[in-house]
Amino acid sequence: MKLYNTLKRKVEIFKPSNDDSVSLYTCGPTVYDYYHVGNLRNAVFNDTLRRTLEASGYDTQHVMNITDVGHLVSDSDEGDDKLEKGATREGKTVWVVAKHYTDAFKNDMVKMNVLSPNGYNDMKNGDNYARATDFIDEQINMIERLIKNGFAYQTKQAIYFDVTKLPSYGVLSGQKLSDKETGARVDVVTDIQKRNSHDFAVWFFAVGHFAKHTMQWDSPWGRGFPGWHLECSAIIHSTLGDPIDIHTGGIDHIGTHHPNEMAQTEAAFGHQLARYWIHNEFILVDGTKMSKSKGNSYTLKDVTDHDFDPLSLRLLYLQAHYRTELNFSWDNLEAAQNRLHNLHALADLRWQSQSNGVHFNFESTVNHILERLQNDLDTPGALAQLSIIDTTLAGRVIRTSDRSSFEKLLQFLDATLGLDLSTRADTNEEQKKQLLARQKARDENDWTKSDELRDDLQKQGISVRDTEAGQIWSRI
Ligand code: AMP
Ligand code: ZN
Repeated sequence: MKLYNTLKRKVEIFKPSNDDSVSLYTCGPTVYDYYHVGNLRNAVFNDTLRRTLEASGYDTQHVMNITDVGHLVSDSDEGDDKLEKGATREGKTVWVVAKHYTDAFKNDMVKMNVLSPNGYNDMKNGDNYARATDFIDEQINMIERLIKNGFAYQTKQAIYFDVTKLPSYGVLSGQKLSDKETGARVDVVTDIQKRNSHDFAVWFFAVGHFAKHTMQWDSPWGRGFPGWHLECSAIIHSTLGDPIDIHTGGIDHIGTHHPNEMAQTEAAFGHQLARYWIHNEFILVDGTKMSKSKGNSYTLKDVTDHDFDPLSLRLLYLQAHYRTELNFSWDNLEAAQNRLHNLHALADLRWQSQSNGVHFNFESTVNHILERLQNDLDTPGALAQLSIIDTTLAGRVIRTSDRSSFEKLLQFLDATLGLDLSTRADTNEEQKKQLLARQKARDENDWTKSDELRDDLQKQGISVRDTEAGQIWSRI
């Protein structure tokens, strides 16, 4: 399998450190608002990676965090904590806000057919997500190591990681410290004791601007709360163990969050955090990155309110390579939904094979699709293989002797692309009778009866078209 490793800036052959299992970590949501269509692309990209690894014979251990504390409005330690801001906006407690948006996120994942992480089991909350607030001790332990190893220093406001102490800092982005911009200032909380502008906080004290921060814990240095970047390093260390095989995220994390995660682990434990770093490109709207702050974002609810199937959105993502920008528009989504309906019609052919149907080598299609996916997740290339089947079968049906290999292909597609093609149901007995009666009516040139039966089937969600192979139905 080949993957583009941001760390090396090239496509590499992927080899996990254990032969048959892969450890995978994904930065999860900050639960102060709904996930948007841009964020959901990240989720589907991670999921496609995981599904491809599993289809390639690897076991996966996938961990994802939930950020429920410490993520400030700006990545460079300024502004308010996003959770606190969400709580103020909604007049609720931070805990209620976190629970609400965590549940909403989990529901979105189910609707999008995104597999739940499997590398950590949260007994308290009954799911598989690692909440930052459940790893406070682990984060404090890490700060202790950072201080002991000489990488962190304390001011009155915070404990900072001194980026100048780690020569490899910034290797992921390839930016020298002198070239790295300091983030745009939002509601500035300046700390005059901070040594370098790029130093980042690993612990904020509950003083000054954060004196009333709701979520605060004791630490050996005083009450406060962890900096956002710390949770990922601490969670990886205590769940998967570092170095892990693959770390993923959107490209916006290449500049600050991921370098900071890497730095913490290297400084605390003396080895790298992850061997492969894989990043997805952005979803755009009219050429601009989709983001909450720009007010150009849509949620999954917006998508379903417009009568789109969440899996049409999933297909929209799969039609583009994860490392290319993708423009979101309702027209693009409609085109993806039409393509999904074509795939449904293709899948429904499994129930309609004929002894003189078209022979197709579905086994080799499975191999071709897997090859495309193993080539840095070439999902457009994988989908092109389905278009070949579609064109070959246009107006025809599959051969009965090929049916079981077609069904295996559908199961393989569900395992890798997650589009729910193999579970589509056959017509029921009554509908089968109606289809036979309609065919008979057509044979007898009784068009009125045949049209009536077609309309009746249509009302039951079965659409019928007439082709050279006779009538073919598909479930709408
Ligand atoms: P956040 O909650 O902002 O950390 O975002 C969650 C994930 O979505 C991160 O991996 C981001 O990099 C990713 N992301 C944010 N905005 C976009 C976008 N417009 N397109 C694609 N991915 C995005
Ligand atoms: Zn992270």
